[in-house]
Amino acid sequence: MTTMSATQALQRRSLDAVWHPCTQMARAESVPPLPIARGEGPWLHDFDGRRYFDANSSWWVNLFGHADAGINAAIKQQLDTLPHVMLAGCTHEPAVRLAERLSARTGGALGHCFFGSDGASAVEIALKQSFHSWRNLGRGDKREFVCLKNGYHGETIGALAVTDVAIFRDAYDPLLMRAHIVSSPDSRLDNEAEALAAMRALLAERHEHIAAVIVEPLVQGAAGMVMHAPSYLKALRELTREFEVHLIADEIAVGCGRTGTFFAWEQTGADWPDFILLSKGITAGTLPLSLVLTTDAVYRAFWSEDVTRGFLHSHSYTGNALACAAANAVLDRFDAGQLEANRVQAALLAEALAPLAADPRVEHFRQRGMILAFDVKKPGERFAERFHLAARAHELLIRPIGATVYLMPPYLIDAQQTAAFLAEAVRRTLDDVA
Ligand SMILES: *Cc1c(COP(=O)(O)O)cnc(C)c1O
Repeated sequence: MTTMSATQALQRRSLDAVWHPCTQMARAESVPPLPIARGEGPWLHDFDGRRYFDANSSWWVNLFGHADAGINAAIKQQLDTLPHVMLAGCTHEPAVRLAERLSARTGGALGHCFFGSDGASAVEIALKQSFHSWRNLGRGDKREFVCLKNGYHGETIGALAVTDVAIFRDAYDPLLMRAHIVSSPDSRLDNEAEALAAMRALLAERHEHIAAVIVEPLVQGAAGMVMHAPSYLKALRELTREFEVHLIADEIAVGCGRTGTFFAWEQTGADWPDFILLSKGITAGTLPLSLVLTTDAVYRAFWSEDVTRGFLHSHSYTGNALACAAANAVLDRFDAGQLEANRVQAALLAEALAPLAADPRVEHFRQRGMILAFDVKKPGERFAERFHLAARAHELLIRPIGATVYLMPPYLIDAQQTAAFLAEAVRRTLDDVA
């Protein structure tokens, strides 16, 4: 009998006991999960002495890499003081402080903060708050939602109903509420005017029945880092005002400095949306937390002596104190100049990847802050999986989406060498598979 390595043993136990997310488990038998022993900064270490640069920030959440001492210290302090208390009937300093600080970042325009646990729960909350606020105002007919083509908002049944990614959605389509799916702007297609015209036509026809439009500002992440100009969002804000429809900005992926400003929305120069959703990076990959920020107008619509006109929604871990402490530690980084640091890092990455942008094997190289992406012209079969596996040999952990390769690294591009290392690892991987 051959003995298994520590790596193989953990892989076997994982395949026997863990149902891995977003994975065809039959396929996982031949492509087993990579056991990770520990993380430090941008690096993940396996059990065999190899390391991997976490180029996608572990699904876009680990803003400061792994085991960040400052964030950890804040959590440890909170752990010994008050890890959790229910937020119905009680309150606590970390939640209040976090809500106040996020409100201040919108100049008070989005002054009310509701807490959820994951991104999808924030989407559910915003959809319910939008519908219920219209209902409380005597406009219960406004109960339809609009989302964009290829948009992604999570995978619970409500969130999936406003998601247009076939591979996640199709099996459950019979279960989902019907939403309007409108063409989305895509910098590769230069189609902003058509996308806006389609939105105008729908709102003009259905606005009396539409509660809200939900969008991912500036970058549609799961669609494959599809980008659009801030001008689209500004025009969309004007349209939704004209037709009295809420606008929900899902910043779960693009918030927290990812696109160059704390909220992606800040780049539009438009009025604030009615809702902003945050999750993923807000705790920098330490604890699950999501937030729904909304306006006085929405909040006031629930204000009543009548209990049933209130928002009676809750999750067990809503406003978890440990998670809020982590989020406050993340905001401390932004108060201390993180956005300026990101600007420098984004420029380093742009410079290092410039040769790749000109590589004849790739097209549509694009960047928005700390998101860089390109499409591979002739990807061939199972490109994403082959690229992912080949990259490991170059110390790179990366998961393309279809034929789109993207970098969404931790905000730890501390020097030209780090950026050059990333560019080199991507190029060598491309040489291996394309
Ligand atoms: C990841 C994501 C979600 C869902 O968040 P989960 O925490 O995975 O439920 C929603 N919207 C966007 C834009 C996302 O990227």
